[in-house]
Amino acid sequence: MSIPQIRKPIVNPCAQPFWDATRQGKLMIQKCTDCQTNIFYPRLFCPNCHSEAIEWVESSGRGTVYSYSVVHNNAPSAFIPDLPYVVAIVRLEEGVQMCTNIVGCDPCDVQCDMPVEVTFDAIDEEFTLPKFKPVQSESIQ
Ligand code: ZN
Repeated sequence: MSIPQIRKPIVNPCAQPFWDATRQGKLMIQKCTDCQTNIFYPRLFCPNCHSEAIEWVESSGRGTVYSYSVVHNNAPSAFIPDLPYVVAIVRLEEGVQMCTNIVGCDPCDVQCDMPVEVTFDAIDEEFTLPKFKPVQSESIQ
């Protein structure tokens, strides 16, 4: 049996600015300039008012864990070496949610509502993945 080795995102053209920014260590989301709604995932028009007046803005990179799952077993894939890993939905301060991984702690220590901040994982020269790590207590304001 061959094990898939593809670990890279498939990029929709409207999401290219997001991936260009992660390579620069920035987490970008979209904002509708008509109704001020923050938007993620990247889209061509606002899901609230259907305006096409959308701009890219930088996220604070801070948020909380909305939900998560610890993956202990996987079908044969390129992700086997990462087991166990945490797949999570993080709610950013800007109100949007992002599917991501929680890193930098024991998977057993992840909890809902846990404060997290973005960290960037450069997997090659083309892709840098935004992941999230627990906010260290001394840096909580
Ligand atoms: Zn709008």
